Amino acid sequence: MNFKLAIIGGGAAGFFAAINAAEMSPDMEVHVFEKAAQFLSKVRVSGGGRCNVTHACFNPKELIQFYPRGSRELLGPFYVFNPADTIEWFEKRRVKIQAEADGRMFPVTNTSQTIIDCFLQEAEHYNVQLHTQIGLTGITQLDNQQWQLNFNHGGDFIADAVIFASGSSAPIWEILQQLGHTIINPLPSLFTFHIKDKRIDELMGVSVPDVICKIDGEKISSTGPLLITHWGLSGPAILKLSAWAAVQLAAKQYQFTLKINFLPEYNYQSCLELLISQKSTSPKKHIQLYPIGAVPSRLWKSICLFCGINDKINWSDASKDMLQKLADSLTQAAFKVTGKSTFKEEFVTCGGVALEEVDLRTMQSKKLPGIYFAGEVLNIDAVTGGFNFQAAWTTAYIAASSITNPVESKK
Ligand SMILES: Cc1cc2nc3c(=O)[nH]c(=O)nc-3n(C[C@H](O)[C@H](O)[C@H](O)COP(=O)(O)OP(=O)(O)OC[C@H]3O[C@@H](n4cnc5c(N)ncnc54)[C@H](O)[C@@H]3O)c2cc1C
Repeated sequence: MNFKLAIIGGGAAGFFAAINAAEMSPDMEVHVFEKAAQFLSKVRVSGGGRCNVTHACFNPKELIQFYPRGSRELLGPFYVFNPADTIEWFEKRRVKIQAEADGRMFPVTNTSQTIIDCFLQEAEHYNVQLHTQIGLTGITQLDNQQWQLNFNHGGDFIADAVIFASGSSAPIWEILQQLGHTIINPLPSLFTFHIKDKRIDELMGVSVPDVICKIDGEKISSTGPLLITHWGLSGPAILKLSAWAAVQLAAKQYQFTLKINFLPEYNYQSCLELLISQKSTSPKKHIQLYPIGAVPSRLWKSICLFCGINDKINWSDASKDMLQKLADSLTQAAFKVTGKSTFKEEFVTCGGVALEEVDLRTMQSKKLPGIYFAGEVLNIDAVTGGFNFQAAWTTAYIAASSITNPVESKK
């Protein structure tokens, strides 16, 4: 009898695990069970339809810094399979991946369909058995260590090993919890902030190339570009902060004070000194007309007005109060956040199967022999940029290789 591998979930991690397992072990029977009518639906919409497959970051020690959850645990796995391996894996299958200036990597065709086609062709080539509209509803361990899977349609299935690649699925987490696994409370990550504030109300579309964002009263901060939207703030600096502070912000019910430094090279004191020096170096210049640093002129004007500096006031007219308020508004501007919105390009859930209960060398459960995990079902998530898929490829690859070659993968 052939060894039977059942993969729960026909998404990124499920397909990657299935293809690798079937390629590495041609005698193994590999089945993918997907509850939806379509496979790979998140891959299809990923990266705005272009699929940000991975990131051009090839040093595992640097790579782990993009993972708010799973950072420490992913170091070992990234030495086994990292973005260089991802690129090579796809290139071997005639899918060329190229980097953009910011490091994000996409198929050269610029469409996620290329990745989907590649997966479907490879699955067919290696004889992976694909099943749609079959959702797992229960799982029981048999006396002989095999696993009996119960589905909503199509009867039961007996597997020798099972990979859970079911993404952020509450019912599956519940099943795993009943089997003794700890599930870290799932929460949203990668979202934008709702802010109603006259400084930014009319500035939709304005972006600042580099800011420091901080949550008042917390130690978490982030840097990067900031984008003003019609509902508040977005851009890499905000998305990164939302990921790193996902747990704290949920506890605050997304009501908190955000502090922004629009001039990252200055703090309040050094900024104030710079503003005071303007009084002697440019006394006759109208303040509103000469933004400092990389602050865009429309935002600069708005900040000036907020500080009581109208278009008539030049540097020599500016009172001490005005300059103090301006230094404050440039380096520690406080904005009241009243809620969050999903980021349309990429969003993930943090939380999932607790990593302490998984052997990261094999992706096998430490509690349930024969049960493996890959992808978002685990308590792993990253900031935007292709890192979430990379975690799916890496964990899926390791699960597949340890099932097909258990001795080798444990070395
Ligand atoms: C809009 C959007 C864009 C994104 N863009 C990017 C990007 O460009 N780059 C990037 O790195 N990340 C991106 N992400 C994140 C990335 O899509 C996920 O990290 C990744 O899809 C996780 O893969 P997965 O296979 O673990 O889970 P999923 O892709 O969610 O797949 C899980 C599958 O399991 C199935 N399933 C669930 N329960 C059952 C059950 N009971 N029985 C059978 N099947 C079941 C689900 O239907 C699903 O098909 C994006 C996310 C979103 C929402």
